[in-house]
Amino acid sequence: MRRIVFCGFRGTGKTEVGKIVAELTTLPFLDTDQLIEQKTGRSIPDIFHEDGEERFRTVEREVIEGLPKSDAVISTGGGVVTDPANMEHLRRDSLMVLLYADLDTIEERLARKPRPPLTGLPLREEIATMMERRRQHYQAAADFCIDTSRTTPAAAAVRVTGLLREGTVPAKERREALRFFRTGRIPPKCLARLETILGDNPADPLTRLMGVAGYPCAHSRGPFLFNALFNEYGLDYHYTWFEDPELAEIVDVARHLDARGLSVTIPFKQEIIPFLDEIDEHAAEQIGAVNTVVFSCGTARGYNTDWIGVRKPLVDLKGSKAVLLGAGGAAAGAAFALTDLEMDVTILNRTPEKAKVLAERFGCKWGGLGNFDTVKPDVVVNSTPLGMKSEDQKPLRDDQLHAGMTVFDLVYTPPVTPLIEAARRAGCKTITGTEMFIGQAREQFYLFFGIDVPAEKLRELLK
Ligand code: NAP
Repeated sequence: MRRIVFCGFRGTGKTEVGKIVAELTTLPFLDTDQLIEQKTGRSIPDIFHEDGEERFRTVEREVIEGLPKSDAVISTGGGVVTDPANMEHLRRDSLMVLLYADLDTIEERLARKPRPPLTGLPLREEIATMMERRRQHYQAAADFCIDTSRTTPAAAAVRVTGLLREGTVPAKERREALRFFRTGRIPPKCLARLETILGDNPADPLTRLMGVAGYPCAHSRGPFLFNALFNEYGLDYHYTWFEDPELAEIVDVARHLDARGLSVTIPFKQEIIPFLDEIDEHAAEQIGAVNTVVFSCGTARGYNTDWIGVRKPLVDLKGSKAVLLGAGGAAAGAAFALTDLEMDVTILNRTPEKAKVLAERFGCKWGGLGNFDTVKPDVVVNSTPLGMKSEDQKPLRDDQLHAGMTVFDLVYTPPVTPLIEAARRAGCKTITGTEMFIGQAREQFYLFFGIDVPAEKLRELLK
């Protein structure tokens, strides 16, 4: 057994379903809204009315932090999922069940039992606006989802107890997935772990899988990092390698296994897009590449977090003059990040025509690698793979590196590349590819689980 935490928008039935699950499992039932009222001696509408939503959220955070760690059924308020600190406390050693319902159903339920308004909008508009605003957070909070629009609280509760016994993946699907993973490419120790999860008598039917999708991707440090994070945050997940030349095969296995999500790497960042139900229109759509897929409530939504990994370390250099070396997949995310920081960007590539295509998409200048000396940049970002192999030439000569320049090499194996070594010798400020890896992984973890891992913790785990 473990804690069972219900989350979801108001009017989705968290309290009713939670109480029945508590009866069926003989676990104590706790409702965070009730605990807030007990703690403050006031009703929630009074706290909202007299002190405002911010004060309410502070008390709510305190209540969530103080919840018992022992087995219990917990129903939470509709907005708890938006706070990463809440998610860290709620997710630890717990099963998070997201209840959801369609707009008509929620409107009808809330009209019968009014709650304090969250916006100045009419009820229906408020529901639609708030559900959309919180959608990403609900997706990140959901280990499992139940649509309560056309089901009774008792039927929803029985589904939850069924889940606790059997999980969501039938034995036949688990056996077929094991065949997919028995390729010889997964290290024996990791395969043995997969066998305990997917075998006929799984140690825990609720353990969910996720992983890195690529070909090849055996070099990925994702499994090492994510499994360490699952351990750290008490999450019942396992992260592995979904390595196959056919992306359709990977997506099929992931869907049949009810996987939580995929980190997508070469060569699938563009190819994955037609497999998605939704794409994040802010960045992924504009970059034209997806490196993160979150599966939630039957929907696959794609995001790009690579650009965040490039943007974050350069945030203090807004408006600088930058050269981006390379015009491939990583360069597209980098170009988005650099132009987002209002930099004057020139893209230089071995094949100048490819630099031109990318530059035109993001309003940058372009040229061949030989044009570097004419630009005189403050910032250089290397997005070519040069430096990965010991026999590689550096993408720039020593005399092209000057003190005062910032050099960011996206290559992260080896952790210190010949370009970074040369830039340090020349007195440049340097940023290694590990910083990009950390930035993009941190955002991925947030999208998957709603938890904000400190960058320092990621650095420690990667040592
Ligand atoms: P990609 O799509 O294959 O693009 C590679 C780019 O590098 C192309 O513009 C290519 O030029 C250029 N290039 C390749 N070999 C070259 C050479 N020998 N000399 C000069 N230019 C060369 O690869 P990608 O997905 O963008 O990845 C590029 C690098 O970024 C990889 O090394 C990867 O490790 C790194 N990366 C790091 C992270 C991180 O988290 N740190 C994340 C993603 C990627 P042409 O157009 O002429 O072929």
